[in-house]
Amino acid sequence: MSSVLIVEDESAIAELIAINLRHAGHEVTLAASAEQAQHAIGGALPDLVLLDWMLPGESGLQLARRWRTDPRTRDLPIIMLTARAEESDKVVGLDAGADDYLSKPFSPKELLARIRAVLRRKAPNTLDEAVEVGALRLDPATRRVTHRADSGWQELKIGPTEFRLLHFLMTHPERVHTRAQLLDRVWGDHVFIEERTVDVHIKRLREALAPAAVSGLIETVRGVGYRLSDASGRQAA
Ligand code: CA
Repeated sequence: MSSVLIVEDESAIAELIAINLRHAGHEVTLAASAEQAQHAIGGALPDLVLLDWMLPGESGLQLARRWRTDPRTRDLPIIMLTARAEESDKVVGLDAGADDYLSKPFSPKELLARIRAVLRRKAPNTLDEAVEVGALRLDPATRRVTHRADSGWQELKIGPTEFRLLHFLMTHPERVHTRAQLLDRVWGDHVFIEERTVDVHIKRLREALAPAAVSGLIETVRGVGYRLSDASGRQAA
């Protein structure tokens, strides 16, 4: 399930979008102005923002630009909504940092498809899609982690935090993540936990993965953090 912040001052449109998103399984928050949106974001970062261009006060365009300069919101997935259909507007919207741009009126089906596409690109760990790395498979829908053995797929026992940690690492492979980044992305931002907590859960995760014999999968990058790297795939390539 993904959390979506809808920033739209026309309440009828906002409600209609909210109904469709909730029906598709998203968790929805509404904001009717840039100020309200900023307030909502200050509490917790959503997985994606639907941002109307024309808002009373600060415009959606200005808000998107501002968010892109703040390290906390720089990577926030944003889809710009607008009544303007000019090609030049689209370019301006994307230049402001929007990941996609949708002109009103749009169908709910199209909106959901665009949301899914942006999330797949920028936050794949928020989707319920199964992910495979090497011989390891994680399925968010069934909350199961399995590995391919000679005898077929074997299930691994794994705790809830280790599951989320593994999900994030598997959807962001080959990149080094600092402990602070992992706390933000796996535990949630604005959560004040000591960084060594990450080390504890990495250790537990490695133990949980031990039956799969993928001991090199999660690498410790000294002085930086952790990286999930598919050594088997690298050798094959
Ligand atoms: Ca508007």
